[in-house]
Amino acid sequence: MDENLASDLAELPALLDAVRESATEVLTGIETRPVARTPKEVGPEELPEHGIGLRRALALFRERWEPAFSGSAGPRYFGFVTGGATPASVAGDWLTAALDQNAMSGEDSSATELEHQTVGWVGRLFGLDQHTGAFVSGATMSNFVGLAIAREWLGEQLGISVADAGVGALGPVPVLSGTPHSSISKSLSMLGIGRDSVRLVPTLPGREAVDVDRLAEALDALDGRPAIVVANAGTVNTVDFDDLRAIAALRQRYPFWLHVDGAFGAFAALAPEYAALVAGLGEADSVCVDLHKWLNVPYDAAVQFSRRQDLQVRVFLNAAAYLTAPTGTPDFGHLVPENSRRLRALTAWFSLTAYGRDGHRDIVQRNISGANRLAGQLTETGLLRLVAPVRLNVVCFTLADRATPERVDALAAAVADSGETFVTPTVYDGVPALRAAFSNWRTTDADVNRAAKAINAAALALS
Ligand SMILES: *Cc1c(COP(=O)(O)O)cnc(C)c1O
Repeated sequence: MDENLASDLAELPALLDAVRESATEVLTGIETRPVARTPKEVGPEELPEHGIGLRRALALFRERWEPAFSGSAGPRYFGFVTGGATPASVAGDWLTAALDQNAMSGEDSSATELEHQTVGWVGRLFGLDQHTGAFVSGATMSNFVGLAIAREWLGEQLGISVADAGVGALGPVPVLSGTPHSSISKSLSMLGIGRDSVRLVPTLPGREAVDVDRLAEALDALDGRPAIVVANAGTVNTVDFDDLRAIAALRQRYPFWLHVDGAFGAFAALAPEYAALVAGLGEADSVCVDLHKWLNVPYDAAVQFSRRQDLQVRVFLNAAAYLTAPTGTPDFGHLVPENSRRLRALTAWFSLTAYGRDGHRDIVQRNISGANRLAGQLTETGLLRLVAPVRLNVVCFTLADRATPERVDALAAAVADSGETFVTPTVYDGVPALRAAFSNWRTTDADVNRAAKAINAAALALS
């Protein structure tokens, strides 16, 4: 055995304690760490020919790399839609690595049973009782899997197996959606359906939610040709929701596969006062839910849900003499793109076990109230204005005066430089704007006050 490996093995308990101490320092210091870092070049480092052992590697990482890492797991990081990691989910992640299970098949371990149970729990949070599911690495992969099953369903309508005959046998595939996330186009590209297949359906006036009457017209124009409809439960800019019930009802008149991208918006289901936004989610044929956002588990984890596991197995079947044939409950290796796979479910199992539905509902409700609080404080001075109402957990705002791309970029940069908070740019309805997205379990009212102060100060400096 390599001498560094041998000494690491001999000293394992003390070394793991040192790692734990480092992690503790990170997690207890996250509130004082600058929220965002302007990336600086740290490397390049030569490939080590001879290693230095874990203790010195840890010291090197802490000195060279860690200071350049962001505080994105902390309470005032509002860029993109970025969850933190609850204490229990961090524990789950550590133990996932320590136990290092391959959650591909259930032949030698009950790890996959834990995943099935956790998928069921997550489904129950969102009312997905008719669906089966599996863990994937994120909402992009969840959308990819849902659309792959949709592709197979389209083939079934036409009497062909796309899994066997290839996507060329399908001909053009109409994909209808109001305001799809960029990962839908990416998935269609990966699936051979093509980005150009997306047909944007007009949205309601002043909204990102699809106009269901116009969707019906678009489906009608297909003359009975089967299609894919991607409904959106929480758009990234303004967190708008399609009317899922009304869209699902259109299936009585037109043949289509209904995929719902509820990456973070599905979490509205946890808060009784917002649950109506996702009414009808359970009627979808496939559903995407991200967990590294609003469930606050570490990267990377999402679940994909489907009502046609038979078609899913046709797409993802990994047939080999040494693998179990997919009878009864298929192995996860026959359900998702990955074959060998990390037990991603353990972080969610820990967090749901430790905090339950109540604890996670509390995170969702506090984040929504934080977003509303921030919106109030940002508009109070008259320097900033909202470009859309706060529907859930995102504040989309811009400069009240001369909101040019340059000035809005300058505002974003000044906010990031403050080290106090971090928001990310967007364009909404042609207007350059900034988004503050709330999805971290730690965020308190005091954090919101601090963030508002920093953003208002940056806006004042530009006025
Ligand atoms: C974040 C997001 C995605 C992509 O999620 P990843 O986890 O980054 O792959 C897809 N759809 C929506 C609505 C999202 O918010």
